[in-house]
Amino acid sequence: MTFQATAPQSVRPAGIATRFLKTLRRRDFLAGAALVDGRWFSKGEREHVIDPATGERIADVARCSATEMELAIASAERSFPAWRELLPVRRGAALRAWASLMLDHAEELSILVTSEQGKPLAEARQEIAYAAGFLDWFAAEGERSYGETIPSHKAGSLLQVRMQPIGLAAAITPWNFPVAMITRKAGAALAAGCPIIVKPAPETPLSALALARLAEQAGFPPGVLQVLVGNPMELSRPLLSDTRIRALSFTGSTEVGRLLLKGAAESVKKVSLELGGHAPFLVFDDVDVGKAVKGAIAAKFATSGQDCLAANRIYVQRSIYSAFVDEFAAAIAGLNVGHGLEPSTDIGPMTKLSVAQKCRAQIDDATQRGARVFSPKQEAALGPHFVAPTLLSDATEEMLIAREETFGPVAAVLPFDSEEEVIARANANEMGLAGYVYTDSLRRALRLSEQIECGMLGVNTASFTGPPIPFGGWKQSGLGREGSRHGLAEYMELKYVCFGDLAV
Ligand code: NAD
Repeated sequence: MTFQATAPQSVRPAGIATRFLKTLRRRDFLAGAALVDGRWFSKGEREHVIDPATGERIADVARCSATEMELAIASAERSFPAWRELLPVRRGAALRAWASLMLDHAEELSILVTSEQGKPLAEARQEIAYAAGFLDWFAAEGERSYGETIPSHKAGSLLQVRMQPIGLAAAITPWNFPVAMITRKAGAALAAGCPIIVKPAPETPLSALALARLAEQAGFPPGVLQVLVGNPMELSRPLLSDTRIRALSFTGSTEVGRLLLKGAAESVKKVSLELGGHAPFLVFDDVDVGKAVKGAIAAKFATSGQDCLAANRIYVQRSIYSAFVDEFAAAIAGLNVGHGLEPSTDIGPMTKLSVAQKCRAQIDDATQRGARVFSPKQEAALGPHFVAPTLLSDATEEMLIAREETFGPVAAVLPFDSEEEVIARANANEMGLAGYVYTDSLRRALRLSEQIECGMLGVNTASFTGPPIPFGGWKQSGLGREGSRHGLAEYMELKYVCFGDLAV
């Protein structure tokens, strides 16, 4: 098997983000002010926002401290009684108004996302639609937060279970989906009747603060939704220690998730964690190779690989292994690397340099251990945050890439022989967020859907997320669920009430 490397090259596009940002009609999206207690906070020190593709400073945002966080918690507490008492249909109307404003400003929000996060503009547009969808969906789901009536085991009594808002909520969100990870958490909390304080990732504050502008315009009362940017540890400390914060939702690394879980233990908060994955992608020899390659490319390279659902270990049955690798290599040769604001770009920069470094370390490790490397594009001229789409074939379980999440555009393809063997290999990992199975056998699909240890499984598809599905993982991939009615329940308490002495 021979790999033919092509080397199209694009130059580092200096100033492109600034040019796009100048076109924004909503200049307030660039003010860099935090939303605390219904006011725009922009005093004191500022954080720089950097275009990861070029390293250029594109904006500044106000750096909040623990003092502003204390103000935000007090404000959320004040806002809670009225928000909780509002009819669900009225809370839903505010969420729908917010979603509608997001869609009205979809192009401007997309430009903000691509400028600070790096993903191709077409993917940023998809993220805005996906993100607004959570607000619409939770608006309706809040109206359906039915309780239960239990057939009584006690004479003359009525047994009810009610769903009530848990109290103040906090969200710590990541940089890979800087808009959708806010609406997936805030949509659920607000629909449930809980005020929420959002601390976005320092790399992607502009889109988070623009969302706050639109929420204010949609009519959320002061304190119901607040967004504060600053040092993650300084801002999370009050959120963890304050007993008034009853629910904490986090998306990010397992390492930070563990720290937050420990921190929340003191005040016994309800914690939901979405901690990334290491998804196995299983391709059996009864399937059409072209279809499986298409799925694997989508599951690996969306969001430039910076996706917790990304296929990290692509297992291919030996009889079709060689054909799969050839077709996969041909497909990645067609992926263009560049600035996300250039229309031809499929793969943008890694938002954080550390992610690019981790990709390179995994490639080096795999090369030393005997993997064959195919990478048709040259990344160096584009800058340190870029990683060219790379195929590591003949990968083995000993390699770093088979043991830990990559979070970048590097694909490991490993051969397997039997179903039993590949199930054991897929499950021999502490992560369990997503999995993928490609097979034309219904019996096999049913067996695997039972046996793969993960929270979400795609059978013959690489696309399965959206507001109605319970997003979350098994094992060290997290706790709790987002989206779906289960996502709403993360922000609610059950109350069992027994009405006695009802016999006539
Ligand atoms: P991270 O966990 O450090 O960052 C996620 C969020 O946590 C950000 O808002 C960050 O500011 C905050 N944070 C960081 N340290 C904190 C602390 N001590 N206390 C409170 N908040 C803190 O993730 P990262 O370092 O930016 O990325 C590293 C890896 O995490 C990635 O390579 C990937 O594997 C994983 N990750 C997963 C997801 C996901 O969608 N599940 C998203 C981002 C990162």
